[in-house]
Amino acid sequence: MSQQAASDAIRSTGEDLPVAFAAIEAAAERIAGRVARTPLIASPSLAALTGQPIHLKLETRQPVGAFKLRGAMNALLALDETARRRGLVTASTGNHGRAVAHAAREAGVPAVVCMSALVPANKIEAVRALGAEVRIVGRSQDDAQAEVERLVNERGLTALPPFDHPDVIAGQGTIGLELVADLPDLATVLVPLSGGGLAAGIALAVKTLRPKVRVIGVSMEKGAAMAASLKAGRPVEVVEEETLADSLGGGIGLANRYSFPLCRALLDEVVLVSEDEIAAGIRHAATAEGETVEGAGAVGIAALRTGKLRPEGPTALILSGGNIDPALHRRLVNGASA
Ligand SMILES: *Cc1c(COP(=O)(O)O)cnc(C)c1O
Repeated sequence: MSQQAASDAIRSTGEDLPVAFAAIEAAAERIAGRVARTPLIASPSLAALTGQPIHLKLETRQPVGAFKLRGAMNALLALDETARRRGLVTASTGNHGRAVAHAAREAGVPAVVCMSALVPANKIEAVRALGAEVRIVGRSQDDAQAEVERLVNERGLTALPPFDHPDVIAGQGTIGLELVADLPDLATVLVPLSGGGLAAGIALAVKTLRPKVRVIGVSMEKGAAMAASLKAGRPVEVVEEETLADSLGGGIGLANRYSFPLCRALLDEVVLVSEDEIAAGIRHAATAEGETVEGAGAVGIAALRTGKLRPEGPTALILSGGNIDPALHRRLVNGASA
């Protein structure tokens, strides 16, 4: 969409967009002191490569190693007393599941994470170590999700989805407030894109404060559900494929209510990167920046290195997470291809 249309869409917030900027400001107040206010650091190597000032937002420094803590913490703190007492439930085995477990423990709220019997033991242990109750059910993610719904109906637990929820989107949007505060002449933001909660929140925050800023979503070429949905003009399903950017896998939900309309209204462009480009991005983060990032967190670097996205003006990249298997990371940094 054009920048004019974007700022018009934002000026009429409330009517057209399903989450309001004020919700992001409220989230910032709610989660202050409970999540990290992460650093934004200059990247001389990417500046040399692109000829523009490039900055890295280190969400890798959050407790649990990914930005998802912002949305989970905000959604949890927005619950009333009864809902908190009963607790939260999710079926995510990745960064969202960890974030829910960590936020729940911090706030003294019980949390249940449902997983299928096929989830690897190290992932189960990681969630258990964060204090959540793990329930092993069935042999697929659908079975785990069915258990979530059962617990919602039978025990009154609150299900917390990973991206399509107003409080989750508002929590992720606090990154946008920090970007504008730290880099007032921000011109371009590159955001890893999966279900679109991160991109929607950041775009809403940044474009409300700076309507001319361009917000670009970056996904992997293999199985990018939001990219396909934006192209189709409605949520569509894609075949899930194995990718180095495992945190970007999965669908956006055919009944998507919040993140899809926001991404459709606010993203200027979506760029897709290949597995080899993601591997090179992970390697670049390690060797040139000294940062350990997972595949999903490296897609912005990949988009710049390949020249698929030519940044204009001061640019921020969201290094969204750092949870990568150490052996895989070592192999990639040592030059193995994807
Ligand atoms: C979840 C996640 C994303 C994508 O966020 P969405 O809100 O689903 O678009 C990107 N990077 C990491 C590390 C994640 O865990």
